[in-house]
Amino acid sequence: MIKVICGPMFSGKTKEILRLAEEAEASGRKTKLFKPFIDKRYSKALVYYHNGKRLRASVLQTNEKGLERMKRIVKHAKPNLICIDEIHFFPPDIFTTLNEMSSYTDVVVAGLDMDFKGDKFETVENIIKIADEVKQLKAVCVVCGGEATMTQRITNNKFSVDDDPRLLAGSKESYEPRCERCHISTKVFK
Ligand SMILES: [Zn+2]
Repeated sequence: MIKVICGPMFSGKTKEILRLAEEAEASGRKTKLFKPFIDKRYSKALVYYHNGKRLRASVLQTNEKGLERMKRIVKHAKPNLICIDEIHFFPPDIFTTLNEMSSYTDVVVAGLDMDFKGDKFETVENIIKIADEVKQLKAVCVVCGGEATMTQRITNNKFSVDDDPRLLAGSKESYEPRCERCHISTKVFK
């Protein structure tokens, strides 16, 4: 079974994946949690706190080495369920690994389906194609209060432009959930 939890920022994706992990653990299913390595403070593990409980996640590099490490951990621990948060940071071909693993463990991934420009993340799109279930979460639009499906990026008080890098961890920027109507397109038309 492969399940995808997607939506914009602030739509509760991490909360949802942790809820599923915790629920599985509580019912006696062995669960392994993974997270991509996205900032400079690299450590092999990270602890999430959810409802006062500690959930330990293995931190993976977002390359072939990281995928190999995940396969080794899964092979060794034989979990019934693996949960991967922030899946959009991983390379688009991760779906083949997940597809292979889904023959012996359940897989749940959570991540952004679109970047701040409104372009789809290929990684998430590919997994959606092979998924058994897709849960699309929504946030609240900061402008109109409607259902937000998109993320606006603001860098130094300006809307980020098209050629800004897609993924930028730890820079001076902020993100806002917005609905399609209130999302300001910064695409450069030539
Ligand atoms: Zn709106």
